[in-house]
Formats: sequence, structure tokens, C-alpha cells
Amino acid sequence: MARIAFIGLGNMGGPMAANLAKAQHQVAAYDLSDQAVAAAVANGASKAASIADAVKGAEVVVTMLPAGKHVREVYEGTVIGAAAKGTLLIDCSTIDVESARVVAAAAAKAGMEMVDAPVSGGTGGAAAGTLTFMVGGADAAFARARPFLEKMGKNIVHAGGSGNGQAAKICNNMILGVSMLAVSEAFMLAKRLGLDAQKLFDVASTSSGQCWSLTTYCPVPGPVPTSPANRDYQAGFTAAMMLKDLLLAQEAARAANATTPLGAEAAQLFSLFVNSGRGAQDFSGIIRMLDGK
Ligand code: NAD
Repeated sequence: MARIAFIGLGNMGGPMAANLAKAQHQVAAYDLSDQAVAAAVANGASKAASIADAVKGAEVVVTMLPAGKHVREVYEGTVIGAAAKGTLLIDCSTIDVESARVVAAAAAKAGMEMVDAPVSGGTGGAAAGTLTFMVGGADAAFARARPFLEKMGKNIVHAGGSGNGQAAKICNNMILGVSMLAVSEAFMLAKRLGLDAQKLFDVASTSSGQCWSLTTYCPVPGPVPTSPANRDYQAGFTAAMMLKDLLLAQEAARAANATTPLGAEAAQLFSLFVNSGRGAQDFSGIIRMLDGK
């Protein structure tokens, strides 16, 4: 079994590290939060005193950090200098494509293979080990990373070269943000027109309006009993996270000279929603803002 350094043990990283430990890997855990480290230790990891301490003797480094600046700080600041040549680096954070590519290039220069491997599936998927991983990196790096990712997830997709995992993640989430707004608008219009929500659901879920935001995550209570609308929009996937991903998509679109007007509008609407103090709510709760509430 491998020695793994796991850095960033928050809502996602904590349960992911626990799944690696459960698979009999030796996990050295580091986080700025002592509480997060203590939870990881209770779940089978050992405590590392610093990032350098965690990566000492590690064959694999896994990170699950908030944003690009943290990833750059951790890798460029310590990991790339402290880890041994040949160490496999796996960053699971959702970050900007550019940072992912810059860090991977720095790792390659130091003789280390790296993949960007952002996830979807949320904290539930992290705990259950059923995450989807979207992986960017060379074939050989992907092949090395795969057995470790399989301990934390179910669907492992090789999306292409370095940064393409992040590209897949933000493109998917741009679809999600835009489609949730479209579905929400349709239910609001139906209400104003006196059309029952269940009737619209019955029609649209078997017609060309069918999509995940409608059939799995319906933003009004009733039609899909498991959707957050039935529990007062308790997250789920928070509006703040959705906004983060939409802003990453906009940043990538600007850099790549792509025109994404609906993505831009979605980012604006989710900014309004988050700035109204509702960032911790499920993102489907944006239907209430569209309803003037
Ligand atoms: P979180 O804030 O719960 O955890 C991040 C952890 O990183 C914290 O414990 C923090 O102390 C630690 N950290 C920050 N800087 C550090 C440093 N320099 N050294 C060591 N530790 C450091 O966040 P999360 O919800 O676990 O999300 C992590 C990543 O996963 C984000 O990029 C997020 O976009 C992505 N993501 C989250 C979800 C979700 O549902 N929460 C779903 C998919 C993807």
C-alpha cells in the first residue's frame, strides 16, 4: 500500500482521505485547521506537522484546497521543492485552468507527474466514495493516478492533457448553472400563467425541455421528492460554489476568447443571489429570487 500525503481536509478532503485510509493506504494528513486534522486522524490517517512533513517519503500527494491561489501556494511554496522526484501529484481542487497548467508544468520541470482531477458529486459522493473525477494530464500520469482515484470515486474520466479536468468541470457546471436558471424561469412563468408545477414537470420531463436540473433537481417542491426544494433549499450544492464555478468559466472564456453570454448572465444572477446573503443555500434556491422573494 502506498504512502500518501493528503493536504486540505475540509468538507470534501476529509471524507476522501478517510476512503484512502480505509483502503489500507498510509495517509499523512495536513491542514491549516487542527480540527480537520484531528478528524482525519480519527478516520485512520496520521497527523503531519507541516506540508513538508506530510510529503516526506510520500509516493503520492493529494490536495483538496479552496482555490487556485491556495493550490499554487501549496505546490510552488512547498510540495514541489520538498517531495521526491517521481512523486505523483493529484490536485482534486476546483481551480482555474491556467493555474492548473502552470503548477503541472513546474512539477514536470522538477521531475514529477501531475494530474488535475476536480470532482463532482459533493460531500455525499465524497463520503460514499462515488465521486466523478475529471482528469487532466498525460496518459502515464492518468494511469498511475487511476487506482487511487478509484478508492474515492466511481466514474473516472480522462479529459485530456493538463488543465482539461478543470476545463471539463467548469464547462459542465456552466451548463448546470444556465439550465437551472432556465428551468426556474419556466416554473415561474408557469405559475403566473396558472399552470400547475406538476403538470409542467409531467410535460417537460418527457419532452424536449428535459434536463438534469428538471428531472433530478427540480427547483420547486413536489415533482422530485429528493430535490433541495423540498427541504427549504438546504444545500446540496451551495449557491456560493455555483458562483465560484461560473466565475471560473467566465475567466476561462475571456482567456480563450470564447463568447459565453448565457454563462455571463448566469454568473451575474448568481452574484446577485449570493450578495443577498443566500450563498449558503442550495443553488436551486435562486428560483425564489426570480420570484421576487
Ligand atoms: P473546505 O473549505 O471545506 O476545505 C478546504 C480545506 O483546505 C480547509 O480545511 C482549509 O483549512 C484547507 N486549506 C486551505 N489552505 C490550506 C493550506 N495552505 N494548507 C493546508 N490546508 C489548507 O472546502 P471543500 O468544500 O472541501 O472544497 C474543496 C474544493 O473542492 C474546492 O475547490 C471546491 O470548489 C471543490 N468542490 C467542492 C464541492 C462541495 O460540495 N463542497 C463539490 C465539488 C468540488
